[in-house]
Amino acid sequence: MESKSEIEKGTRVGIGWFYNACGKCDQCISGHENLCPNALVSGINVKGGYAEYAVLDANYVTPIPDSIGNIEAAPLFCAGITAYSEVRRINPSVNDRIAVFGVGGLAFYAIQMIEAMGAKAVAVTRSHAKVAEEAGASEIVEKPSGQYDGSIVFAPSSSLVNDAVSAVRSGKTIVIPAVMGKIEIPFSSFTWEKNITSVASGLRKETRAVLDMAAGSGLKSMVHRRGLSEANEVLSELKNGRIIGRAVLVP
Ligand SMILES: [Zn+2]
Repeated sequence: MESKSEIEKGTRVGIGWFYNACGKCDQCISGHENLCPNALVSGINVKGGYAEYAVLDANYVTPIPDSIGNIEAAPLFCAGITAYSEVRRINPSVNDRIAVFGVGGLAFYAIQMIEAMGAKAVAVTRSHAKVAEEAGASEIVEKPSGQYDGSIVFAPSSSLVNDAVSAVRSGKTIVIPAVMGKIEIPFSSFTWEKNITSVASGLRKETRAVLDMAAGSGLKSMVHRRGLSEANEVLSELKNGRIIGRAVLVP
């Protein structure tokens, strides 16, 4: 049976890395389409991303509110959604203190989201205190101290993971989006029911929530506008840490 989308003709829409899912498996039916084993990824399983045009599945696109320009919207569909999924895994309560390890493009959004939810973001960074300040972090420290109500590790470093796990209270959550290599954590660091989790962004309801949040409270973006023809150069700059924030390629 052909499904019908509610997206009207001419609507400005976007997608992130998550292209679509099967819509029929247990994960899809229970509202976890981001965990669908048959999900397709744009730029890997289907063409899209570095192009002027792309064919999308109308059931899996998200409308962009009028108040958000294309350049600001683009990174929301990648860094914005991922940061939101991470913060949602912790689900902070008002006045909770959430430690954010490693400040860059993703943390820039996560800090704003934690603060917008009424919790306090504690940025743990040695080199990007200014970025954390710009994002509105309640506290900026070089090393974690005390006990936090959750933590997110943005720096892809195994050595920071142990600090992040040790720094949360019993029963709280540590989100690790991506670590290069293996993680070694002593059991004593995560006793008392601490939860260590990864994140799979792409839920449509979370994507809509990010766009709503940006349209409402006005999430700030650190965006560098570059030409599509500069794609290779930009990727190399990102790899070498020369771009803080997110680069948007414009045809
Ligand atoms: Zn599925």
